[in-house]
Amino acid sequence: MDLDPKYQNLPKEHICENCKTEMNAPMHCGHPMHVEILEDGPNWVCWMGTSCGKKLIDTCCENSLLIYRN
Ligand SMILES: [Zn+2]
Ligand SMILES: [Zn+2]
Repeated sequence: MDLDPKYQNLPKEHICENCKTEMNAPMHCGHPMHVEILEDGPNWVCWMGTSCGKKLIDTCCENSLLIYRN
C-alpha cells in the first residue's frame, strides 16, 4: 500500500462554503479523515486510503462544498 503522508496531518475542522455549516472530520487510524469525491459522492476517506476507511458524507445541503476552516 502506498501511503501519502500529506494526508496525515490535515485539520479536522471543515466548513461548507455553500451554507456555512461547520463539520468535523471523523477520525480513522489516529488522524482526521479528508474529503474525496468518489463514484457515490463526497466521502470521508482515511489517510491510509479508501481501502482502509471511507464513509459517505451526510451532506448539509444540496451544493455542499466542504473546505478547511481557518
Ligand atoms: Zn452546506
Ligand atoms: Zn484507517
